[in-house]
Amino acid sequence: MATSQQLQLLAPLSGVLISLDQVPDPVFSRRVIGDGLCIDPTSSTLCAPLAGVVSNVQASGHAISITADTGVQVLMHIGLDTVNLGGQGFTRQVEEGQRVEVGQALIEFDADYVALHARSLMTLMLVVSGESFSWCVSPSGLVETGQALLSLASATASSEEPLIAEGQRLFSQSLKLPNPNGLHARPAAVFAQAAKAFSAKIYLHKQQSEANAKSLVAIMALQTAFGDSVQVSALGDDAEDAVNTLTRLLAEGCGEALTAVVAVAPVERAEAEALTVLRGVCASPGSVLGTAVQITEPTLEVKEFGAGAHIERETLANALIEADMALQHLRDIAISEAQAEIFKAHQELLEDPSLLDQAQALIVEGKSAAFAWRAATESTATLFQQLGSALLAERAADLADVGVRVLKLILGVRERALELHAGTILIADQLTPSQTAGLDTEKVLGFATVGGGATSHVAILARACGLPAICGMPGQMLALANGAQVLLDADRGELHLHPDPEAISQWQARHEQQRQRHHHEQAQATQAACTRDGHHIEVTANVASLSETERAMAVGSTGVGLLRSEFLYLDRNHAPTRDEQVSTYSAIARAVGPSHNLVVRTLDVGGDKPLAYVPMDSETNPFLGLRGIRLCLARPDLLREQFRAILGSVGLTRLHIMLPMVTQLAELRLARQMLEEEALALNLGQLPKLGIMIEVPAAALMADVFAPHVDFFSIGTNDLTQYTLAMDRDHPRLASQADSFHPSVLRLIALTVNAAHAHGKWVGVCGAMASERLAVPLLLGLGVDELSVSVPQIPAIKAAVREVDLLDCKAIAEQVQGLESAEEVREALRLYQEATVDTLPALEN
Ligand code: PEP
Ligand code: MG
Repeated sequence: MATSQQLQLLAPLSGVLISLDQVPDPVFSRRVIGDGLCIDPTSSTLCAPLAGVVSNVQASGHAISITADTGVQVLMHIGLDTVNLGGQGFTRQVEEGQRVEVGQALIEFDADYVALHARSLMTLMLVVSGESFSWCVSPSGLVETGQALLSLASATASSEEPLIAEGQRLFSQSLKLPNPNGLHARPAAVFAQAAKAFSAKIYLHKQQSEANAKSLVAIMALQTAFGDSVQVSALGDDAEDAVNTLTRLLAEGCGEALTAVVAVAPVERAEAEALTVLRGVCASPGSVLGTAVQITEPTLEVKEFGAGAHIERETLANALIEADMALQHLRDIAISEAQAEIFKAHQELLEDPSLLDQAQALIVEGKSAAFAWRAATESTATLFQQLGSALLAERAADLADVGVRVLKLILGVRERALELHAGTILIADQLTPSQTAGLDTEKVLGFATVGGGATSHVAILARACGLPAICGMPGQMLALANGAQVLLDADRGELHLHPDPEAISQWQARHEQQRQRHHHEQAQATQAACTRDGHHIEVTANVASLSETERAMAVGSTGVGLLRSEFLYLDRNHAPTRDEQVSTYSAIARAVGPSHNLVVRTLDVGGDKPLAYVPMDSETNPFLGLRGIRLCLARPDLLREQFRAILGSVGLTRLHIMLPMVTQLAELRLARQMLEEEALALNLGQLPKLGIMIEVPAAALMADVFAPHVDFFSIGTNDLTQYTLAMDRDHPRLASQADSFHPSVLRLIALTVNAAHAHGKWVGVCGAMASERLAVPLLLGLGVDELSVSVPQIPAIKAAVREVDLLDCKAIAEQVQGLESAEEVREALRLYQEATVDTLPALEN
């Protein structure tokens, strides 16, 4: 008989009981979600094993959770990989939020269909709220629907429940934690799992605090560190055993002592995979399955000597005109602003006086137009490549592209249209921007190249057309035969050669899950971004134009957290007039509206992004040179003009001005003085808010000094990472290491937030990190108030905020700052996501 503190779980189905250890899916067999049982069903109606409320039922009908009034939560999952059936074969009998009685029918399923189309019909019943249980029957053999199977100790003892005397609680001796980073996610998960094996109530104590030892999140919230004194206590039948076992586990490092053994596995796996998986850097996200087709360029035969300077000059001039017309046509039919901008830049290269002078000089020496043009473009491209700037090296690719376009016209070589079949994945040493823009997206699913970087024009174009792409692949990729089946997983930067059926079906399941998640996020995009425990976060947009601002506001952005004003200044020969600036800013301000923030960042150009009309000396280390606010203070006329133009939007929106690359307080003081003077000159009583970007480590370290002088901070994690780790942010070979999840960057973010909050100021993050779903719990936990993200990511980031509890986020953020690498931080966050947010294998609803 169940006592008043016990709850019995009845069999939801008839069938054969199977131990979870035998379930061929590690998510279940390792009890990642919770402990419980598995039934291979002989009936086809899933019934409620307990009374309670339906806390979740998947739209596809294959999984359902019931929460009892005591807080006990039980998940039932029908079959393995049944999410892929997309609801086929399942009929839901209840709705989310509905109260159900024990034994009530929850889901009907077509057992024959599911058995034929899914991996298995094995059905799981798991206690996901962590209570221990004892068996009411032998844990194997046949069971009938409604038969009592498990007996649970009630999770939340209500105040009426008889309390067990304190004296019955057993305490261990205190011991010092041996884990270098305390009980961070991995050892905490090991400890919680071990604790769940006991029926006793178990607690982990640190000083005055205690945590439910069966809860990963609670353990992490204790925020333990190396050498902390901790104790285990337990209350219940197997308390003594629990205390002894768990104390031993703690002393042994909760599995961390085994890292040497564990570390072998990935290495071996990597070796085994080396033949089948090639890795590069994600240039454009997404994943596709298709057939590899190699693109090779014909070798162009070029005669050195020409038919006389007059004829060759004319030949070159005609080719340049034709190339210009072709590029204009490409601009006219471009599907995005980004694409059009690239061809405009190519047109400008055709007029570049230095290139033309070099070519003309060679023609005068008697060389052919083709020879002269090729020599001029190739030598300039080589120069770009050798200047040590990744950005210029990538622009060399543009020059080579224009070079070949003109060369083919001189030689009369017709552009050969690529004959491609549907389902093609292109493999190439390098794709030119023209080739990329000309790809038939009906047939080409994606591409992988040896050359190129994540910021190359090819990458920008791929993103604009939504083509998944990887660059920086190893040269051995070019040995791949045409027609080979490949799986291009750009999200992970991986190209899987000849994927086996299992890899394909895993990919399909993931792909389907992503599709459904995306659909759901879009549908909820306009809802507020509030954590489960009610903490509101601003999710705003990073934009660089009016059209982008309009798109952002349409997909649920609550303002603009970063307007990159450079777009008004680059690629032109004169500074924009004040009127032009005023009209652009005010159009954007109107699009944002009076109830949202618009954060306009002042001009962020310099060394690596030179302005044609601002003569500057060339710099050996442009990223460490006259950039951002430094350039603006050196050219105060530019900054004052921009301030005046921005001030034209006062009253149209909640206007904020933000200064980039600030390192010294004096820079902020000077800029503020100029802003005040300009506002005074315009007779403006009301000043916009003034803040700075935190992207130089010096500013983060001295955030407490800056905080009293600003209205807000916005952390530019792209630059903050490159300066903290001393890694060029555009370097294709360092791309995977220059990771904003590095604990050093996280500590700087924490410093910044703490300093700002101590002075009542808000902090945003506008670097690319804020657009990563994995970073959401981390940044929230670090105390960030606003996430400014790229426009397409707005719905996903808002959805990610809604999935977490701020308290949990704080615990995980505290933990990961103690880890040793970005990889470890990412792994801990993934684990955290699996253990909390992504607990269900199917997250599609
Ligand atoms: C940053 O550095 O993170 C940032 C947002 O600025 P940008 O990428 O424009 O340099
Ligand atoms: Mg920056």
